[in-house]
Amino acid sequence: MTKPAYPVDLHAHSLRSDGVLEPAELVALAAERGVTALALSDHDTLAGAAEAIASGERLGVRVIPAVELNTESEFGDAHVLGYFLDPHDDALEARLRWLRENRGRRIELMVENLQRLGYPVSLARVLEIAKGGALGRPHLAQALFEAGHVRSYDEAFDTLIAKDAPAYVERVGLTPLEAVRLIVERGGASSLAHPGTVVGLRELLPRLVDAGLTGMEVYYPEHSAAWTAELRALADAFGLIHTGGSDFHGRGEHGGGLGCAYVPAATVPALESARRRIGAGTAVGRRTTP
Ligand SMILES: [Zn+2]
Ligand SMILES: [Zn+2]
Repeated sequence: MTKPAYPVDLHAHSLRSDGVLEPAELVALAAERGVTALALSDHDTLAGAAEAIASGERLGVRVIPAVELNTESEFGDAHVLGYFLDPHDDALEARLRWLRENRGRRIELMVENLQRLGYPVSLARVLEIAKGGALGRPHLAQALFEAGHVRSYDEAFDTLIAKDAPAYVERVGLTPLEAVRLIVERGGASSLAHPGTVVGLRELLPRLVDAGLTGMEVYYPEHSAAWTAELRALADAFGLIHTGGSDFHGRGEHGGGLGCAYVPAATVPALESARRRIGAGTAVGRRTTP
């Protein structure tokens, strides 16, 4: 029997990026687990938002449209979550499309590298695994596993496609500051995801706060109690909202079960009012959603 879930989960992925469930299936699972507020935070896309919101309305789950923007820089993997974004915002969609196209090119280059290294996988199969979602290394890992080149999905990451592994290709995309600014500009509230993957967190954080960062993912399945306490103190020092989420994918090298991370009851209202405060001042011409 799995542990009962917490009622709020602000970090989850569907098939529209690298999760395994359709957005509606993800929301159904949330309802089944007693999650009443769920942020669908696919990488670089809001494509699942409408389906998730509609299914949430039927099942009594409040779905918050969100994205996770991966950035790679001297600060390591800094992932920025953007909440309460408008799925019909064309300017935002244009930026997200650019990010997705770069993802596609990067995966193509990695497929070429794998071919050269003697681990051929077909790009067509990788695309099939992604089922039209924003392409990522997890899809490639799955294809490597299926082709019998590795004994497990994790081994594909560890030996071939992790940073510094032979087939790895650097991402072209946003810097962490650009990611935060994009979310602020489009009227959303932002949070620094799983800060443990950031190199030089104390150096990066004040810059992100200057750029308009609203929160930090203090609660995450892989955080120890000590690390959580440290992050809580750090968030408070910068006036950041404590967010949390499972990073549920349904498979993969990170994250946990849906609803497995604690999120304070005040978090969602705080994100909403922060977003209104920011949005009122900066997002000129932004479409408003109820
Ligand atoms: Zn992430
Ligand atoms: Zn994630």
